[in-house]
Order: sequence, then C-alpha cells, then structure tokens
Amino acid sequence: MKLNTPWIIQKKRDGQELEATEIQQLIAGITSGEVPEYQATAFLMATFFQGMTPQETMALTQAMFESGDHYDLSSLPGIKVDKHSTGGIGDKVSIILAPLAAACGLTVPMMAGRGLGYSGGTLDKLEAIPGFNVRLSSTRFTEILQTLGCAIIGQSEKIAPADKKLYALRDVTATVECVPLITASILSKKLAEGTNALVLDVKVGNGAFMKTREQARKLAKSIVATAKKLNLPCRAVLSNMDQPLGYSVGNALEILECIEILKNEKNKKFSSVDLKELTLHLCAQMLVLGQKSRSLAEGRKLALAHLNNGSAWKKFQEMVQAQGGDTDFIVHSDKLITAPTQITFKAPKKGYITAIDTEQVGRLLIQVGGGRHKASDQIHPGVGFLFHKKLGSPVSTGQPLVTLHLSETENSENRDRFAALEKSFYALFEISASRKAVPKLILETL
Ligand code: URA
Repeated sequence: MKLNTPWIIQKKRDGQELEATEIQQLIAGITSGEVPEYQATAFLMATFFQGMTPQETMALTQAMFESGDHYDLSSLPGIKVDKHSTGGIGDKVSIILAPLAAACGLTVPMMAGRGLGYSGGTLDKLEAIPGFNVRLSSTRFTEILQTLGCAIIGQSEKIAPADKKLYALRDVTATVECVPLITASILSKKLAEGTNALVLDVKVGNGAFMKTREQARKLAKSIVATAKKLNLPCRAVLSNMDQPLGYSVGNALEILECIEILKNEKNKKFSSVDLKELTLHLCAQMLVLGQKSRSLAEGRKLALAHLNNGSAWKKFQEMVQAQGGDTDFIVHSDKLITAPTQITFKAPKKGYITAIDTEQVGRLLIQVGGGRHKASDQIHPGVGFLFHKKLGSPVSTGQPLVTLHLSETENSENRDRFAALEKSFYALFEISASRKAVPKLILETL
C-alpha cells in the first residue's frame, strides 16, 4: 500500500486508531526523508493531543527500533542490564552507576543522550573529561563491554535514526512531554543497544518533564507495558525532581561530584546524600533484574560494598581510559574546574528552603553556556552551579545559597546581564519562616 501521510495525520488528529502498517510506513518515510519535516511535526502535534493506544505505542516503538541497526551482544555472557532516566537537573546517576554495576559483576551497555529541552545529558557531562569518546564503533563497544563490563556511548546515526529525527523535531516544537512519544523514543534505543533488561528512572517534579506523580505513573506504566510486549524485562522507579539531584549542575562540576562519590570522599560543604541513595537503589534494581542479587536489600549491600572498597572507582578510571579520556583529569579532578569566575549568592533572610524552581535551574544553565539552545551550540563544560542548600535546609541571613562558575567576568559591558542573572538566582529559592515536608526521594516502583 502506498504511503498516504495526510490521511495518517488526519486519522490521528481525529482520534482514530492507526494500523501498525500505517505507523510502520510513516516511520519508514520519516527515516528516508520521503516524509518532510512539516508533515512529521504535524503528526507529532496530533499525537501530543490525541495520545496513542497501547497497540499504537508498541507499533511506533517497533517501527522506530527497526528504522536502523542494532547491536548484537549475544556473544557476551550473562544478562545485560541498562538504566535510563527520563531526564532531570543535576541527574548524573549514570556516570556512577555504570561502573558501579559493572564492578558488581553486571554487563552494562549504556546508550545515553545529550541535553533535551532544559534537562542535562550524560554525554555532555562525560565530554567534560578531555578526550572522552562517546562515538565508539560497535566492535570497540563490544570489546570494552567484554573486558570491563561497562561503556557509555551516544546514539550513532545508524541506531534508531527515526528517533534521532523525531527527538530533534520534538525538542523545537513543544512536543517533548508526551507519553507515547517518550515511550517509543526510549525503548527503541534500548532495544537497539542490545540490553536484555532495563531499569527506568522516571523523574517527577518541577524539574522533570512529568510534573505530577499521576503523569509520571502513566509514563512508567506505558514504558513497562510496552517493554513487556517487546520481551524486554523492565522496572520503573519514580523518583523526585523538585530540586537538583546532588549539589552540582553543570557538566564538569557534575563529573567532580561523581568522582567524590566513587572515591568515597566526604564533602563537608555540600550534600550528595540523595544522589548516592538513588544510585544505590537503582543499582540494586539492576542487580535483581540481572540475577546477581535475590532481593533489593542484598543488591544495595553489594553495591555499597563495591563503592566502599574502591572497585567502582577503579572501574570508572578503566572505562574513561578505554574510551579515550585523559585520566589525569579525573585523578587530579580539580583540573576540571576551568570557569574563570566564581560568584556566591547569599541568603537574603533567615528561614528554611521550602522550594527550588528546578526547571529554571536547567534553563539558567543553558543561559550561561552550560547547555544548548540549538543542536549546533557549543557548550562550555566548566560553567555550572553548586547548591549549598537543599530543600528543608535551615538558612541564616548571609549564608551561601549557590555558587556560580561562569565563563565571563563582570565588566562595564555585561553589568546589566550579571544583575539580571543575580535576580534570577534569588528568585529560584523560596525561603519560609517554617519548615515544609521535603518530598520523598524514591516514590514507588512499577
Ligand atoms: N529520553 C529519551 O531518550 N527520549 C525522550 O523522549 C525523553 C527522554
């Protein structure tokens, strides 16, 4: 049957269910370029408003997976397990988790992403380490997995190319926050990378695409159900994103925070308690799915032991070296601090931190050059923010709230911009006279 794109868009616009063959034809057309971007975006917007049935979501996932190549990791022993996050601010879990899970005996083929909208991307963070190569050939990817048990790569042109096109279009057409589109985007890549099982971290809160628990649960259910139909065992953890995870936001600064955790260093000035806890929990979930542990408690114990005995830190160094990164920058990690200007904003009044506008933190990072407005933008890896206070923290007048690492120094030409930036940073924090309950970090598992 010939592809009739206007008809497919019209059916979706009017809320009718599409046939699997119609979805396959459309995705094949988008991949080959036969379907122009204006029709692809019309389809995305119609889907955004009308949603998809579980059958349509499965057909879309399958078609996007089949739009390109896939890695065959069947020569590697054991169950391969990956983790994926739906995107958040300061979410650097993967960088600690991949070497940690590998140190515990799992094989972790991790295909990560770049920043999407206001949320950061693991690949941009890893590229703050000079030389780190996220574009490995499939042979080299398999080799590293064979010898080390973990590697973190980007999506090559050949892996789920339909997702690559649609992801870029969604980013600029306000169609990111859509359950079937996120489901198909994530799962098409996970199926293509050759993993046998998946742990999904679905972020919920004012710094996540899913702002409410209800929306996050809907997304988690959609991904778990679709994965099941496609024979990919999957567990979804809902975790809170009403504040940046850990204390740092910004590519190199986030690597520094990861190194502190991997080295088991205590930072007296800042708190990474939530980051470490979530990483251990997700690792435990992976260990259970990968049949290395019988229970979450046993998995957590195993993960903690490998953080404490230095084997995760060693694995991280080996992974960085294998992927071409200069290990001098992680062993002497202060070399990662490259932004020339540091400014600390202090609390204007006494009280408790009762809210942080987390999405705005991500937008401010883009504004100062730590993220992209468009795909071709260059990132300054050294810029970012260090949060001295977390939700629920008591604060006295004049105590540091946040330290900015910036690529520019204030001068007569940029004075107004610096003043506006200062205003935006103060507006991030709500400081109240009485304490409010802090949201739970790990909300539920599906
Ligand atoms: N991560 C993805 O890979 N795709 C989405 O659509 C959202 C988060």
